[in-house]
Amino acid sequence: MSSDTHSGGSEGSGSSAEAESAVETARRQLAHAADQLDIDPNVVERLRHPKKVQEVTVPVERDDGTVEVFTGYRAQHDSVRGPHKGGLRFHPEVTRDECVGLGMWMTWKCAVMDLPFGGAKGGIAVDPKSLSTDEKERLTRRLAEEIRDIIGPTQDIPAPDMGTDPQTMAWLMDAYSMQEGETIPGVVTGKPPVIGGSKGREEAPGRSVAIVTRELLEYYDRDIEETTVAIQGFGSVAANAARLLDDWGGTVVAVSDVTGGVYDPDGLDPHAIPSHDEEPEAVTRQGVGERVSNDELLELDVDVLIPAAVGNVLTADNADDIAASFVVEGANGPTTSKADEIFAQREIPVIPDILANAGGVTVSYFEWLQDINRRAWSLERVNDELETEMVDAWTDVRSEYERRDVTWRDAAYVVALSRIADAHEARGLWP
Ligand code: GLU
Repeated sequence: MSSDTHSGGSEGSGSSAEAESAVETARRQLAHAADQLDIDPNVVERLRHPKKVQEVTVPVERDDGTVEVFTGYRAQHDSVRGPHKGGLRFHPEVTRDECVGLGMWMTWKCAVMDLPFGGAKGGIAVDPKSLSTDEKERLTRRLAEEIRDIIGPTQDIPAPDMGTDPQTMAWLMDAYSMQEGETIPGVVTGKPPVIGGSKGREEAPGRSVAIVTRELLEYYDRDIEETTVAIQGFGSVAANAARLLDDWGGTVVAVSDVTGGVYDPDGLDPHAIPSHDEEPEAVTRQGVGERVSNDELLELDVDVLIPAAVGNVLTADNADDIAASFVVEGANGPTTSKADEIFAQREIPVIPDILANAGGVTVSYFEWLQDINRRAWSLERVNDELETEMVDAWTDVRSEYERRDVTWRDAAYVVALSRIADAHEARGLWP
């Protein structure tokens, strides 16, 4: 399944009755953050809407010769700071609104990291598990053709997301390049390194989650060696975060996949458990720890809870029962607005997705630079520069957190929104 920030689940598909669409959550968070800032309401009004949403019909020949027609979208939110950037997902629940909401989050994520990109998100409403590899290839190539006019290295650069992976990006890059008549690696990121992908890109979202968790613990004077961590999920984000935190002395006590979770209060060895990419749905088959459900995992008595699988899992239904001292969002949108309010009242710091998992898009930016310059970086350089970017972004968010008596999410939004609003003010509205 996905090789990126969302392995194993879907934003907007959590189990709560309060289910809120991604665009509703994104707009609510925008309004909330704008209240903290002296920001031109006309700019806020512009940011509530996507710049463009392309809806396309994607006909695909199945292996049995029949033709099936799918619907795809590419929502481009804002490009005041640079080309649109964001993932492309293959998932049955993809909708226009979800793409718009997730595209808005990408605008904030790129701005909080100070990357010269705006936001976008796209996808096809399809269950990738129901497709053969050949069918997936035909679907991807046809999508590339349908959105060819609006993507490109200076316009909009897709990347892997739920249900897509480096191979999907390779097909997209090939189809685009064939039509343009030249090899254009910078049209997508998250490609295999052999065709211009960056070393360290796949591990990057999990690495950023681990870096931010380390900074958070230091900020609150907690010793990582004395810290217990529960992680929902064991896709690329969760597994990479778990393994790094374990390497740095933390104790990962619980991880999970769609089949459920495992819990050992004395600590699991995350290196010995296969990630979703290494062996799908293998977490509960290792004979380690005691079995817990995905819901129980969230309520474990741990220091740090990292939801790194599906969206909308922390809701009004369980926010009062979360026992963790800190939440670090590995997935996009794991916390509903109501849960966020409860965590704020309970004074549980929540480090938002737009900062915590931003390592993915940050290394996408490094990949884009490598593609444009036709020069690959070493893994060491990628990881060193990611470390610097993450610590810089953390420091910017921390300053706003300290200055304004707001939540960590609001502080991150303030950093992002001020940069976007300043750019809009400088460029103006034309005509
Ligand atoms: N899909 C990833 C995210 O949500 C990465 C997007 C990118 O690298 O462009 O952050």
